[in-house]
Amino acid sequence: MIAQNFDYLTPVSLAEAFDLLNDPGAKVMAGGMSLIPMMKLRLAAPERVVDLRHVPGLNKIQQDGAMLRIGAMTTHHELESTPLVRAACPLLAQAAAAIGDVQVRNVGTIGGSIAHADPSADYPAALQALEAEIRIAHRGGERTVLAKDFFQDTFTTALEPNELIVEISVPLEAKCTGASYQKMLQPASGFAIVGIAARVSMDGGKVSMVRVGVTGLGGSSYRAANVEALLVGSEGSAADIGKAAAVVAEGIDANSDIHASAEYRAHLARVYTARALSAAIARAEAQ
Ligand SMILES: Cc1cc2nc3c(=O)[nH]c(=O)nc-3n(C[C@H](O)[C@H](O)[C@H](O)COP(=O)(O)OP(=O)(O)OC[C@H]3O[C@@H](n4cnc5c(N)ncnc54)[C@H](O)[C@@H]3O)c2cc1C
Repeated sequence: MIAQNFDYLTPVSLAEAFDLLNDPGAKVMAGGMSLIPMMKLRLAAPERVVDLRHVPGLNKIQQDGAMLRIGAMTTHHELESTPLVRAACPLLAQAAAAIGDVQVRNVGTIGGSIAHADPSADYPAALQALEAEIRIAHRGGERTVLAKDFFQDTFTTALEPNELIVEISVPLEAKCTGASYQKMLQPASGFAIVGIAARVSMDGGKVSMVRVGVTGLGGSSYRAANVEALLVGSEGSAADIGKAAAVVAEGIDANSDIHASAEYRAHLARVYTARALSAAIARAEAQ
């Protein structure tokens, strides 16, 4: 299907973008990898599309103290291939590399992906496990929202109308910490039927820190605090991992669709949580 007619606008500054977006018929576009299909399906019908690609400074990746700051227009490919990201935040690089196919990764952006908040998208799991900070700008100001507060429901985030994501900050990987993103993908699109991101620190043979982010299972990504509570302080043995992974789907209203029933998704979540935790612990111990 062909999208309905629209004006295509290319601001060259953030201020100009805010001016153009101060119009109820306007919609911002980053890579267009989700927006354009939605327009073709007539799920979105903006009268004006405001393309952010010519706004300078939105695709920088820079280290700032113990944080890595990533511009919202950074593409999935840039995140999977930039040496600084691969070394300082391998979990994010791994999640980026797991997205779709090479065409999608070359054009799609981290800001567009998290604004879209598809319940099966890959970044949300990693950003939950990384306790990422999302910097959001509006005309005349900005605010920072934690990943746990940003992702609210299916295709629903903390973004207000006329706000733009400008940057995502994640911590640099600490010593004795390992991370892993494991997903069961839907073979046609690559989206996660279930995706689990785990970060684990080991200290003196015990798990001293663990973070688990989940995507694909419920209406929105979440941090599995119950899994974390069971694993922290343990030796991280296979039995410890199995016991902790067993609770990952507890209390979650699991999605059910043509790709997987709710029961199967919950089963996959337990299996992939165990895999992600095992891989993260092995990496932490190898350091
Ligand atoms: C064939 C295919 C396979 C895919 N497979 C996967 C997959 O396996 N895993 C996965 O996670 N994703 C997958 N995707 C989605 C892909 O990651 C998209 O790149 C992403 O969802 C949207 O990013 P974008 O930059 O293209 O955003 P756009 O499509 O341009 O925008 C998406 C939404 O975000 C809004 N938006 C964009 N930028 C901003 C901003 N800076 N601030 C506020 N709002 C903004 C737009 O208005 C729009 O509502 C796939 C897409 C396709 C087409």
